Amino acid sequence: MYKIENIEDFARLLGESVNIVLVGHVNPDGDSIGSLMGMKGYLCGIGKSVVPVVPNPYPEFLKFLDLQGEVLAYSELPEAVEKAVAEADLIICLDFNSLKRIDALGDVIAAAGAPKVLIDHHPQPDAIFNIVYSYPELSSTCEVVYWFLNGLIPIMGGSVGMKSALPLYTGMMTDTNNFSNSVLPSTFRMAAGLMDIGVDKEWVQKMVFGGYSESRMRLMGHMLVENMKIIPQYNASVMVLTRAMKERFNFTDGDSEGFVNLALNIKDVKVSGFFTEGEEFIRVSLRSKDDFSVNRLARGYFNGGGHERAAGGRLYIPVGEVEEYFIKSLGEFIEKEK
Ligand code: 5GP
Ligand code: MN
Repeated sequence: MYKIENIEDFARLLGESVNIVLVGHVNPDGDSIGSLMGMKGYLCGIGKSVVPVVPNPYPEFLKFLDLQGEVLAYSELPEAVEKAVAEADLIICLDFNSLKRIDALGDVIAAAGAPKVLIDHHPQPDAIFNIVYSYPELSSTCEVVYWFLNGLIPIMGGSVGMKSALPLYTGMMTDTNNFSNSVLPSTFRMAAGLMDIGVDKEWVQKMVFGGYSESRMRLMGHMLVENMKIIPQYNASVMVLTRAMKERFNFTDGDSEGFVNLALNIKDVKVSGFFTEGEEFIRVSLRSKDDFSVNRLARGYFNGGGHERAAGGRLYIPVGEVEEYFIKSLGEFIEKEK
């Protein structure tokens, strides 16, 4: 059992609330949709009316967590999202800690009158929330939600049923890269608890890691053979996915999920950068091992942030300059950190 502090404060707010909006981050991943749906399952079970919202749609492989299509994307249904936020008497933000992480939805949430609660596992939350439950030491927001619900249930009643267990397990599994990063004894206790409730871990595994397209596999091969560059002087690796390559490999959202981790399997590579050219900016994805802080690297050079060993951001430069910028930034950063 992992103890979440001051749950009574949340219980008090929850007791006075009927309409609750749950907010997830841009480009929602497994931990984002998992924590939204896990929380929703519990709250609906105690009679609340709950609307989960995100800035833009999630990738297709997460659809099994939202079979009724209950998660509203602001980019698709702006009026429905604005109405839900206006009617809300409680807003719970999950798996992000700065309004910058929810794009245009940030203005809607900032202007909302309802109290805002943060439940998250990213370091250094912005000071805009009424109550903060921030546990950077835990594997995933889904794990924070699991222990949070374990503390809340004795006060508010209700239970964690399969509607919550399946998404919470999935988000923890994806955020830990299938139990390889940030896993603590509490994470295994959570996994065991959720399997006791009925989660079939092999089925989840198949839904998440067994549904890739042929073109994703070929793109991965192409990236590894033709694109990955090793930067020995900084123990680093870089890959750049351009729009032309996306077109050639029929790229759809989520197809490059996990590519950033691949280079870390190389003995001397301690930091890996994966850059994706988009319509308006380059998406930055960073991973590291040992004590290299990609959170600080992303904050300092890539307009972003994240965790110590998994971070991201954005670059507003031509795609042809990305590799050189990455190498230059690494040089400066490593010098500064000495
Ligand atoms: P990913 O590489 O999977 O897109 O992101 C890894 C982690 O980096 C995410 O869990 C998130 O915490 C963080 N992250 C990704 N993009 C951004 C960004 O643009 N800004 C900030 N602050 N964090 C980001
Ligand atoms: Mn997360």
